[in-house]
Amino acid sequence: MNRKILVVGTGLAGLTAALRLSKLGYQVEMVEKHHQAGGRLNQLKKDGFTWDVGPSFFSMSYEFDEFFRFMEMDPPFEFIRLDPLYTVHFSGSGNKYTIYRDLDRLAEEFRQIEPGFRAKMERLLGSAGKFFHDTDDLVIKKNYNSMLHWLFTLARVPWGHAPKLFRSVMKELDRHFTSDEVKQIFSLVAFFLGATPYDTPALYTLLTYTELVHDGYHNVRGGMYRIVEGLLSEMEKRGIQVHYDTEIVDFREHGGRLFSLTDQNGKSWEADMFVINSDAAGFRHEVFKRERFSEEKLDRMKWTLAPFTMYLGVKGKIGGLEHHNYFLGDNFEEYAGKIFKNSISLEKPYYYVNVNSKFNPEMAPEGHENLFILCPVPDLRFKPDWSDRDKLADDIIADLSERSGFDIKSNLVTKTIFDPVDWGKMFNLYKGSGLGLAHDLNQIGYFRPKNIDEKFGNVFYTGASTIPGTGLPMAVISSKLVTDRITGAHDSV
Ligand SMILES: Cc1cc2nc3c(=O)[nH]c(=O)nc-3n(C[C@H](O)[C@H](O)[C@H](O)COP(=O)(O)OP(=O)(O)OC[C@H]3O[C@@H](n4cnc5c(N)ncnc54)[C@H](O)[C@@H]3O)c2cc1C
Repeated sequence: MNRKILVVGTGLAGLTAALRLSKLGYQVEMVEKHHQAGGRLNQLKKDGFTWDVGPSFFSMSYEFDEFFRFMEMDPPFEFIRLDPLYTVHFSGSGNKYTIYRDLDRLAEEFRQIEPGFRAKMERLLGSAGKFFHDTDDLVIKKNYNSMLHWLFTLARVPWGHAPKLFRSVMKELDRHFTSDEVKQIFSLVAFFLGATPYDTPALYTLLTYTELVHDGYHNVRGGMYRIVEGLLSEMEKRGIQVHYDTEIVDFREHGGRLFSLTDQNGKSWEADMFVINSDAAGFRHEVFKRERFSEEKLDRMKWTLAPFTMYLGVKGKIGGLEHHNYFLGDNFEEYAGKIFKNSISLEKPYYYVNVNSKFNPEMAPEGHENLFILCPVPDLRFKPDWSDRDKLADDIIADLSERSGFDIKSNLVTKTIFDPVDWGKMFNLYKGSGLGLAHDLNQIGYFRPKNIDEKFGNVFYTGASTIPGTGLPMAVISSKLVTDRITGAHDSV
């Protein structure tokens, strides 16, 4: 067997799918619209500094292990478990908390504000952990072929978990804790999904279990882009070619199958099968022009928040910052409730700061720091105009300078901003949404855009907006699920 597969997009899901398929004997070739591989897991180099462009840590590292076992290859990068995980700063109280994996140390952090923290947290983790283990293999890592298959699978999840489907992450935390600051900290996992704790189902408190108990969060030595570099070197060994600056914009069909894809220069790319790593809903809309994925219908779907990101090179060492830091304001509920629809001023933004040079000093010149700042903002449906982006950047820099006790503005060596328009254009993210389709109950499992095309039997999808969902480990699982689809190694009902 030497059937040819064209993979469109070199995001993590595209790269890992290409490698899996090559291992199975397919002849694989890739096209990518950007000038370098990685998709959102990308890298920026400027003025002597290096930054990871998007992801800065990941959970479920064992999904990478599964991939390396499948490939029979040694891991080409080293990941290191974070402990402490991150710090959280509040502007109102001025309080700063460090989130440790060790529950005794964590309880000590909250001794003043949440009496009995350890027992309360153990109760939450017990229930979240049970949900995680009852659903991880059963529900998440599966291809669904029919509604019946989906319902049949859900019916096997113990009924005791049902209330978690109907209350929000914040409501779940209300049941366990009294301190607002504690609740806000452990609700941040909803933002990791690109949503807010008020509209994310409580089942996602399983992420608190994964961060504190199960596998934790991991960094990559040398920066997250080492993941992409490692995969590219394996692809080179296998003769998988990537064509950069090549955007698929059109297609030709023949006899009910996709015959070829066409790039922006009119060049035609033929293959026996096609794996699309571009956003699974966005591609059906933009390229295949499907009625079920019309702009009107996509706009009615729920998308995750858009990223506003900054990459700063700063002279000096910033003592007031750790490796991973969250900066929250004093109006959490109002902010979370209104940020989605742009109905709150971004004057006092909530944001995340990563100082990678604290862990990987080679990412900044000696005596300097490289800062990555991420502020979740409304997508382009709600805020299409970003001509005011410099004001938001200045506000964040001023706020961070005050709260970290370091004058960033006077010591700034270099600054790059990517607003949602940039993100949308760079990687074809629908309306600039950072994590793709949200994970509401009507947009997961059987209801998420499928990883096999509705019309062309030789077209498949992998990545954040198809199953199982967003984030780096999910991208790796998605590449396994699409490989199973192609080889026919999937459950059928
Ligand atoms: C700012 C930010 C921070 C994040 N932080 C984290 C984190 O800390 N941890 C974590 O686990 N996850 C994080 N994520 C999410 C994570 O980055 C994504 O879930 C994951 O990288 C998605 O990978 P993917 O393969 O699905 O898609 P992508 O990375 O989007 O790759 C798709 C590729 O397809 C290409 N493409 C699109 N359309 C076409 C076309 N028509 N023709 C040719 N090529 C095309 C794109 O250019 C892109 O390279 C973050 C995301 C963002 C935006």
